[in-house]
Amino acid sequence: MALVNKIIPFSCIDGPGNRTAIFFQGCNLRCTYCHNPETINMCTNCGKCVLTCPVEALKIEDKKVVWNKDICVECDNCIKTCENLSTPKTIEYSVEELFEEIKKIRPFIQGITVSGGECTLNADFLVKLFTKVKRELNLTCFVDTNGTLDLSQREDLVNITDKFMLDVKCMDKDEHIKITGKKNEIVIKNLHYLLEKDKLHEVRTVVAPNLNNEYTIKEVAKIIDNKCRYKLNAYRKYGVRKEGLELHGEVGPNEEEMKNFYNYTDISNNI
Ligand code: SF4
Ligand code: SF4
Repeated sequence: MALVNKIIPFSCIDGPGNRTAIFFQGCNLRCTYCHNPETINMCTNCGKCVLTCPVEALKIEDKKVVWNKDICVECDNCIKTCENLSTPKTIEYSVEELFEEIKKIRPFIQGITVSGGECTLNADFLVKLFTKVKRELNLTCFVDTNGTLDLSQREDLVNITDKFMLDVKCMDKDEHIKITGKKNEIVIKNLHYLLEKDKLHEVRTVVAPNLNNEYTIKEVAKIIDNKCRYKLNAYRKYGVRKEGLELHGEVGPNEEEMKNFYNYTDISNNI
């Protein structure tokens, strides 16, 4: 079983073509600029959000908070109330149940992309799901990851995955700890490993104020050496929690500044 935060049936920004994007609940990083911080933790069933629901879509049953998707009006009062970086709006799926959801959409999509939270925390589940989806629906399967799972130790997942989208947040190890709470050795190891295996669709970096963006972009571009796409995302304040706003501020880089950062992705400019 795995806990799913959200399924977007049709997405054209989560890999090539029209794809179903599945967002798993739970993450092992605490990124300061995360704009979906409610995906970080599992709900502890404290019950605080239940009374804030205007339509009684939340109930406590057997000491667990249960969400009624059908009457929820998506006001997000519950998420605003939660002090635990979580949400009651999740659904637990077995591989078969999630497969059935994908099967309904099959005629309209080229593939599925799993994301999060951090989807590789459910690596065993993903291997089973991808095996079934590829065998029975003939769809491509992409993984969008923060790169903290040592993928060289999970060849089963790497082999069954068509391509990965990898976040490289900072190349400086202290800066990585500062903005995520964890070291970046495994992320960088995965960057090299996935390139060697020709399994990278895209590498992504968020360009945020008060980070050494130039250093990260130049170093990543050098390693990638045009072997896959390198996408830069501009920091935006929406959804970012207080500590992130304190570090990165209210305003992200503008278009002109992003163009300059994109110049660093061309390694011929970095010599
Ligand atoms: S988002 Fe849905 S479950 Fe949450 S408070 Fe609003 S109506 Fe209730
Ligand atoms: S979502 Fe948050 S506030 Fe609601 S029950 Fe879970 S931990 Fe408590």
